[in-house]
Amino acid sequence: MNIKRFILIPFLIISTIASSLTLEQIKQWDKVELHLHLGGAYPKEYLRSIATDQQMALLEQELEKIHNGVDYEEAFPIFELIGRIVNTEEKVKDGLIALCRWLEADHVIYAEIRTGLKDMGQGEEHYLQTLLEGIRDGETEWFTPRLLLSLRRFSTVEQAKRTVDLAIKYQAEGVVGIDISGISTLGNIRPLFPELLRAKAAGLGITVHLGESPNENDQLEILETLRPHRIGHAVFLTEEAKEWLKIHPIPAEMCLTSALKVKMIEKPHWHPALSHYALRDMPYSVCTDDPLIFNVTLSDEYALLYSTGVIDADKLYEVCCASQFQAFDQSFRQKPN
Ligand SMILES: [Zn+2]
Repeated sequence: MNIKRFILIPFLIISTIASSLTLEQIKQWDKVELHLHLGGAYPKEYLRSIATDQQMALLEQELEKIHNGVDYEEAFPIFELIGRIVNTEEKVKDGLIALCRWLEADHVIYAEIRTGLKDMGQGEEHYLQTLLEGIRDGETEWFTPRLLLSLRRFSTVEQAKRTVDLAIKYQAEGVVGIDISGISTLGNIRPLFPELLRAKAAGLGITVHLGESPNENDQLEILETLRPHRIGHAVFLTEEAKEWLKIHPIPAEMCLTSALKVKMIEKPHWHPALSHYALRDMPYSVCTDDPLIFNVTLSDEYALLYSTGVIDADKLYEVCCASQFQAFDQSFRQKPN
């Protein structure tokens, strides 16, 4: 037995697979981004153009901290800093348009951009109208942006009602769904169920961050009561939630880099959604969560998933194509991409 050859053959097989798909090739694929928070996604160059030197220095410092890995809750304060930089409706709109161009450069053809409603002096409805102007200005023949309005588990019923009312009112103008995000162990989502069900009955998509913390105790109740159209992250799903999902295969939005950087997982191939979803051939999409904060493009996320070796290049492309059908607005598929 030629030991040297014995060692070399597996190495050659691995390197052949690895070289069969490059980041450049992934960049050319038509991709959809289904999990992206506006506050964590403004292009850094855009922020640099409006921030003070001091704000920018602080931002770089915080980004560096996250790059080195932080605990889940520690990742949230950076959103406040970004909020102090993007502090007028006009800046939000310009940032949204800059984000659209940045996504399009990565060959993203459709994106659902999520954000909570704010009152920046002229009321929440005016803020939403400004966002929708950004969506309109950001749309091109090749790229379709849409909005999801975010609530948190601790949002009040009144907030939820206002958000759902506005989402329904502006449904035809670019609002396609409601997202439940924020720290997943803070607050009680149950009082919000009627409003979320009302949004769903009106034809809006519902996606809930689920399995971001092993301490969530409402997963099965959320799944059974809301039957959301998609779930975000799906890292720490309880056994009963996993069993329920086997029967009701709700698509997951997998954000590998995010899960790594906030220490939900230690290695990309340890992401539990790979075994619950990828290996069971259940539907999921590849997403960035917060591309600014995690310094990642959607193409990078696909390349990272590919590098785990869990799925091959053909399967990765299949996941990319299939995720288009998980979009809340299917109209972009009529465009000449
Ligand atoms: Zn998220």
